[in-house]
Amino acid sequence: MEKLKVSRDFKKENTIVKVNDISIGGKKIVTMAGPCTVDAGNIVEVAEAIKDSGADMLRAGAFKPRSSPYSFQGSGEKGLKALAEAREKTGLPVITEVMDSRAVKLIEQYTDIIQVGARNMQNFSLLKELANAKKPVLLKRGLSATVDELLLAAEYIAMNGKQDIILCERGIRTFNTYTRNTLDLSIIPELKKRTHLPIIVDPSHATGVKDFVLPMGLAAIAAGADGLLIEAMPDPEKAISDKAQTINTAELKKLIEETRKVAKVMGRE
Ligand code: PEP
Ligand code: MN
Repeated sequence: MEKLKVSRDFKKENTIVKVNDISIGGKKIVTMAGPCTVDAGNIVEVAEAIKDSGADMLRAGAFKPRSSPYSFQGSGEKGLKALAEAREKTGLPVITEVMDSRAVKLIEQYTDIIQVGARNMQNFSLLKELANAKKPVLLKRGLSATVDELLLAAEYIAMNGKQDIILCERGIRTFNTYTRNTLDLSIIPELKKRTHLPIIVDPSHATGVKDFVLPMGLAAIAAGADGLLIEAMPDPEKAISDKAQTINTAELKKLIEETRKVAKVMGRE
């Protein structure tokens, strides 16, 4: 492969993505957490509970990529405004998904990190638009994307010089049926070898099973991930989407406490 801007050959030292006083890709493990969709109850109260659990950022979707066109599609700009209010009240930076290149300008006004979902990893017009985005981008691995495809997708965002990009492993499609996807932990050391970009792991979408979120989250940190993306809310029974994988905020707190122990063993914070 040619010398990509996202490659280690191009840049030796780790890229650290900064959001306010949070550094992603540095020594400290970063936790982004929240409900799948922003409309799951009062988002300000939800955000306060997420903050009390020890998470660093609030993550929730206002534009939702749903398999069925008849499923709830998210509340759009109304949801973005609610997220901005939650950020103002709690001080937690916000991360939310963009699905369409025409919505980048709108979403970047409201969010601190722009998420590209797995289904859009190869939406090249969206990626090209994001190359000029004013906010950092979190790029999720596609459902069946190879490492090369993930890095080339990131290169679309990096090609004009943008460096504040975070990669996210969220599980891939396999023949397994006991989990929603299969968490590919070995992509972490592979990516660490090949790219200077930070990598976080989403054990919620990777497993689809709330009881597996803690063990696989810890395994991801042990494997060298820079952070976790977790679906959590005070009362997961109220989740509009992805209920089976959403942990409650007490479980999130426990996960973050356990993460601290593993981080310490790994020489991180
Ligand atoms: C999400 O993060 O809510 C989501 C839809 O995830 P993915 O794109 O990984 O399926
Ligand atoms: Mn979800």
